[in-house]
Amino acid sequence: MSVKKTGSLENLAEALRRLPGIGPKSAQRMAYHLLQHDREAATALGHALLNAVDRIQHCSACNTFTEIEVCETCQDIERDPGTVSEVVLATNFTNEGEATAHYISETLKARGLKVSRLARGVPVGGELEYVDAGTIARAMLDRRTT
Ligand SMILES: [Zn+2]
Repeated sequence: MSVKKTGSLENLAEALRRLPGIGPKSAQRMAYHLLQHDREAATALGHALLNAVDRIQHCSACNTFTEIEVCETCQDIERDPGTVSEVVLATNFTNEGEATAHYISETLKARGLKVSRLARGVPVGGELEYVDAGTIARAMLDRRTT
């Protein structure tokens, strides 16, 4: 099937291509899918994206995403607001992740901080965002000092 390209279709594919890991062919497939098979999802995606961009900002204290000036974690009065005593590195177990962890670890140790890494348990070569919470919790409990 041949679909005549329009400006809007090309703009959508180009916008999708800006996402990490999405090449031109994947962006085009996603655009075609949304427009041809799931317009309801396309509309929901558009609304969710606009809403998120409009409402979400960085916490002024810790820089995480939040919809308020200071995130709920930073507002927790039972949280230890003291200086940082330990940094747990959670990089991917890829060569790039290992190199990044090594560099950060050496930098933080030079500043006198305790540095640890998540224990293995996360699939080698896997992306952390695709790992279930239980696996990450186990890896956190079994972390080791580097
Ligand atoms: Zn915060």
